[in-house]
Amino acid sequence: MLQFSRLRLSGFKSFVDPAELRIEPGMTGIVGPNGCGKSNLIEALRWVMGETSARQMRGGEMDDVIFGGSAGRPARNIAEVGVTLDNAARTGPPQYDQDEIEVSRRIERGNGSTYRVNSRETRARDVQLLFSDAATGARSSGLVSQGRVGALINARPADRRLLLEEAAGIAGLHARRHEAEGR
Ligand code: ATP
Ligand code: MG
Repeated sequence: MLQFSRLRLSGFKSFVDPAELRIEPGMTGIVGPNGCGKSNLIEALRWVMGETSARQMRGGEMDDVIFGGSAGRPARNIAEVGVTLDNAARTGPPQYDQDEIEVSRRIERGNGSTYRVNSRETRARDVQLLFSDAATGARSSGLVSQGRVGALINARPADRRLLLEEAAGIAGLHARRHEAEGR
């Protein structure tokens, strides 16, 4: 399984100034008062892994992830999130033969998102597959947001099956089959 080692944000939600966090092996806790941006950090992680639903990001449209301005700070037009994956043990896909895999996503107001893997522009689909193969996808059971535990308990059996498939690491195979079949 790929380990996250760094998360970088700029212009993303409340993180207007560039911020970088190191993610050490083991357990990481994020503490702070209500509204300081704890959930925004988790959403940044989900977003860079290819989340396509604005609602999952607590917004009406995807542009809502861009810093929208605050007292004395004007709104931004670009948000960017990057995540570094530790690939020293070569646990990632074979085409990435480096010690680190850098995945980034950038959104420009009105212009949608672009993704890069190790600086090369990459399709959203391939970023999503990279993470679903690593069983850490944007929708994976590994990311449980506020209020989601209740939603899981009430989930339809088909949705629950999806979660089990993700946990088993086979969600990427299904996505590929659908793509091959043109669905
Ligand atoms: P809690 O402890 O209540 O769960 P939290 O630490 O998880 O709080 P978040 O929900 O991550 O807090 O952050 C909410 C803050 O982020 C709010 O102040 C909100 O105004 C701000 N915020 C969200 N989106 C944007 C945006 N696009 N531009 C500027 N600020 C934003
Ligand atoms: Mg929160």
